[in-house]
Amino acid sequence: MEDRNERPDICGPCGGECCRTRPGFEAPERFLRAADPAAHLAAALASGEWLLARHVGVPWRGGVPPPDEVRWREILCPRPATVEERRLGRAFASGERSPCVFLEERGCRLAFAERPRMCRSLEPSAAGECLAAFGPGEAAAAWLPHQALVEEARRRAGVGR
Ligand code: SF4
Ligand code: SF4
Repeated sequence: MEDRNERPDICGPCGGECCRTRPGFEAPERFLRAADPAAHLAAALASGEWLLARHVGVPWRGGVPPPDEVRWREILCPRPATVEERRLGRAFASGERSPCVFLEERGCRLAFAERPRMCRSLEPSAAGECLAAFGPGEAAAAWLPHQALVEEARRRAGVGR
């Protein structure tokens, strides 16, 4: 597990730009740990607090592109919804911005260990270039082998594409 990445000295003055605009992606393990992973993910989706964001392809490795069959593949990855996405009942199509549903006045209402992996891996930077070791591309690569599980959860939750 990542060390706690909270840096009030940096994030305080920033005001939580990440949480106010782009919730972090989750890794599969949160759901794979459950006795019925598809049911666990379906319940999260049905709550409206989580959704499936689209990502095209997986990252290049060592300057080598991924195989063609995944290079342009649409991969669905869970992350918390934004307030506006929850209201709309669907994920934003592009770069729209809205606060994460878990963001409260005093910060994230999830305990650190319960936050999405991308949130836990984000390295705050006073220069405004905060990077996550586990970003959208890493989430897509991690979720690629579990797309059947995602589709099953989506079907059970009754959420559209
Ligand atoms: S991680 Fe970066 S964007 Fe997020 S609150 Fe901290 S400084 Fe701001
Ligand atoms: S889950 Fe918490 S840390 Fe992650 S974006 Fe939402 S409010 Fe921020």
